[in-house]
Amino acid sequence: MNNDCIFCKIVAREIPCAKVFESETCLGFLDIAPVNKGHALVLPKAHHPTLWDMPTELAEDMFAAMKSVSLAVREATGADGLNVMQNNLEPAGQLVPHLHFHLIPRFGGDGLQLWDQGSYASGDEMDELASKIRNALR
Ligand code: 5GP
Ligand code: ZN
Repeated sequence: MNNDCIFCKIVAREIPCAKVFESETCLGFLDIAPVNKGHALVLPKAHHPTLWDMPTELAEDMFAAMKSVSLAVREATGADGLNVMQNNLEPAGQLVPHLHFHLIPRFGGDGLQLWDQGSYASGDEMDELASKIRNALR
C-alpha cells in the first residue's frame, strides 16, 4: 500500500468506489469521469506505478479480470465495441500512478477520436527502429 495513492486507498476501502469486480489480486470499478457510461478501470491491488513495474506473474490474473469485466460491460451497456487503454507516466496522460487499464465501451457514432497516425520516412527507418527495439528486449 502506498499511502499517497488514491487507488491504494480505494483497494483498502478508505475511499468508496462503484465496484464491478474483485479477485484475490485485482479490482475493477467504474471510472468517476467516464468517457462513455460504463467506462471501467481494472487494476492490480498491489501498488505498481506503471506497466514496466508490474510483475509478469500478475499478467494472467490481469487479463482474466479485463476479459471478465469487458464482457460484462458490453452486456450491461449494450456496447457495440470496446477500447482498452493504459497510460504510463505523465507524458502519456497518466494521472494516477497506480497501474490500471481503462475499459471503454464504444457505441456506433459516439464520435470519440483516438489518435492521429503518422508514417515512417522512406528507406530503412522502420526496419532500423524495429531492429533497435528487438535488441532492447530483455
Ligand atoms: P489515467 O489518466 O491515470 O490513465 O486515468 C486515471 C483515471 O482515474 C481517470 O480517468 C479518472 O477519471 C479516474 N479517477 C481518478 N480519481 C478517481 C476516483 O477517486 N475514483 C474513481 N472511480 N475514478 C477516479
Ligand atoms: Zn497505489
